[in-house]
Amino acid sequence: MILLDNLSKTYESKKVSVGALKNVTLKIEKGDMFGIIGYSGAGKSTLIRCINLLERPDSGKVVINDIDITALSPKSLRKQREKIGMIFQHFNLMNRRNVFDNVAYPLKGKGLNKVQIEEKVIKLLELVGIKDKVYSYPSQLSGGQKQRVAIARALANDPEVLLCDEATSALDPQNTRAILNLLKDINQKLNLTVVIITHQMEVVKEVCNRVAVMENGEVVEKGSILDIFSNP
Ligand code: ADP
Ligand code: ADP
Repeated sequence: MILLDNLSKTYESKKVSVGALKNVTLKIEKGDMFGIIGYSGAGKSTLIRCINLLERPDSGKVVINDIDITALSPKSLRKQREKIGMIFQHFNLMNRRNVFDNVAYPLKGKGLNKVQIEEKVIKLLELVGIKDKVYSYPSQLSGGQKQRVAIARALANDPEVLLCDEATSALDPQNTRAILNLLKDINQKLNLTVVIITHQMEVVKEVCNRVAVMENGEVVEKGSILDIFSNP
């Protein structure tokens, strides 16, 4: 369902060029829990940001459900982006708004009335297991709780894909495990495609079914979790 077709991206800064992506081709199927692993600077962040065009590749296509989104008008691209949720290492919550308002934010201006928004927010908070914190502010939550709120917000528009940018890198091992289990659960319950980038080997081993390994802007290995990690 997601085809990253021959993507290249070079950053020019201070007269140095960095090849962040070099002819990267990847296919991510519907329902995959897809891990992209590699050391810092390998190009993971650039690659995942190409999936919603937060970053534009210099060349190549990003095809989602047979639509080349690099060719869309700004208006169509905005619509397309609603089908793609994203979570981040540092959660990116709005600190002056409580949990309810953070999760409700993407639902504003969508033609839902107050009761419908309330029902949807509560349902999402139940799904991520944090309904009891509905009126708390981000500063009152642990890292794991903040990431649950961020996941609920990312799911508010019923996306087809959830992009996770180092989503567990700021968490302790226990919260990392809990968030990974939650992502796996959501992947299975909603048949939602999940893409995870991480430098943490354990993360992909624990939950992903398919993996790509990046080094120096290139995908150097890809396959099922067993292909990549089984000992000969
Ligand atoms: P990763 O996510 O694997 O750490 P990135 O995609 O962030 O890798 O970065 C890949 C390479 O591109 C690195 O060498 C990084 O320094 C460089 N890079 C990333 N973003 C920019 C930018 N906005 N300007 C210049 N160089 C960048
Ligand atoms: P992370 O490792 O958490 O992804 P980074 O520190 O690599 O975060 O990048 C943070 C932001 O800075 C990103 O938006 C990235 O594109 C940008 N960036 C990364 N490397 C460079 C660089 N060498 N020059 C300019 N911007 C960069």
